[in-house]
Amino acid sequence: MAWTETYHCDVCNKSKKETEDDWWLAWREFITPTENMPAQPVLRLTPWNFLLAHSSDVKHLCGARCAQTQMDRFMAAHI
Ligand SMILES: [Zn+2]
Repeated sequence: MAWTETYHCDVCNKSKKETEDDWWLAWREFITPTENMPAQPVLRLTPWNFLLAHSSDVKHLCGARCAQTQMDRFMAAHI
């Protein structure tokens, strides 16, 4: 029997069906403009990938609408 993992959208909590391949992954990284400047956050977004989906700090997003909400949250947290 194949082992499957159930993912939920981190915004709307919808569960992902195996047949759905239009999900997205987002995570936060930091970039340092120069040595003397503080690091600043970067939001990264990529199409669904089952290997990347395992990463503990990645957000699972069920589509463009929830990706937009995730970006809104990211922006609100860093202004
Ligand atoms: Zn969603």
